[in-house]
Amino acid sequence: MSFLTLDHLQKSFGPTKVVHDFDLSVEKGEFVSFLGPSGCGKTTVLRMVAGFETPSAGRISIDGQDVTRSRPNQRRIGMVFQSYALFPNLTVAENVGFGLKVAGVARADRAGRVAEMLELIGLPDLGGRYPWQLSGGQQQRVALARALAPRPRVLLLDEPLSALDAKIRVSLRNQIREIQQQLGITTIFVTHDQEEALSISDRIVVMHKGVADQTGTPAEIYNRPATDFVAGFVGTLNRFPAEVLDPARGLVRVEGTEIALDRPLPAGRVTLAARPESLRIAPEGIPAEIAGVEFLGSVQRLRARVAGREVVLDRFNEPGAALPQPGAQVHLAAARTGWLVLAG
Ligand code: ATP
Repeated sequence: MSFLTLDHLQKSFGPTKVVHDFDLSVEKGEFVSFLGPSGCGKTTVLRMVAGFETPSAGRISIDGQDVTRSRPNQRRIGMVFQSYALFPNLTVAENVGFGLKVAGVARADRAGRVAEMLELIGLPDLGGRYPWQLSGGQQQRVALARALAPRPRVLLLDEPLSALDAKIRVSLRNQIREIQQQLGITTIFVTHDQEEALSISDRIVVMHKGVADQTGTPAEIYNRPATDFVAGFVGTLNRFPAEVLDPARGLVRVEGTEIALDRPLPAGRVTLAARPESLRIAPEGIPAEIAGVEFLGSVQRLRARVAGREVVLDRFNEPGAALPQPGAQVHLAAARTGWLVLAG
């Protein structure tokens, strides 16, 4: 049995159902992200795990124990919020030790654990400061130390990086992942940022309108999206309406060009899709006109038009290589394995 299990979880607010039949099994020490657009129910599921919301139906268990009706403080869960939520009138050390004090841990033991936690987050000398004397990133690290100090069974992170600027966001997300792996703590991380989810998760649950559309490793989610929504939400995708010519051989026609895929297809019409890095300019392929070129440093993003629709393709920067110019007539192709097939 998994360490954390969400079984047919549902939640309605009045007549509105915001979480439908949500199932998830998380292994001990796993880092799972909930990724989805605003309003898809990520926070609501997290709050049910924490015990701040009661499910309308379903069951939550941690380490074999049914906690569906347990109060938050009985669940041994640590939580970090977007807004840090530190106690402004307490020092950093007092904030970190807060949960231990509530749990009745003796002062001397508390001090040792607080020092250990401040070391863990890389702020060993800031115990005497107040939250307002810290940067946003430092405050969020203190919030993490406060959540971890009582040795929770599960760590819940609700968009912990959203209030920080881009550079700090990246360094703090790596730090969170390192600490999580060092402690081996089972973690759920809520975000609407796909790059964040792809970069630090063992598995991602892509949520859409209160359901889990797909659960998988970052590579599975990106390379083999299970639904049209996942395909469109995670990464950039170019879509090409296609007519299936020979289902068994995986032969299709796109804009007058025949393409053979590496798998059989359903008969009729499908949508072929390719990531920007899978498409390339080739001697033969789908006819396109270059519309623009963006130099992004390590890659160049080419914008092309195919039958009136815009398509983007990325190529690695090669100093000295000639770039296609706007207006150039080219052909686009992808490796047989580079094509995704979406429902017509
Ligand atoms: P965001 O990224 O914007 O926080 P989310 O995916 O976390 O979005 P939730 O906060 O879980 O989404 O909200 C899901 C839906 O439930 C939203 O439509 C929201 O308005 C609604 N909702 C959340 N809490 C309540 C509440 N206490 N009462 C009524 N509706 C609520």
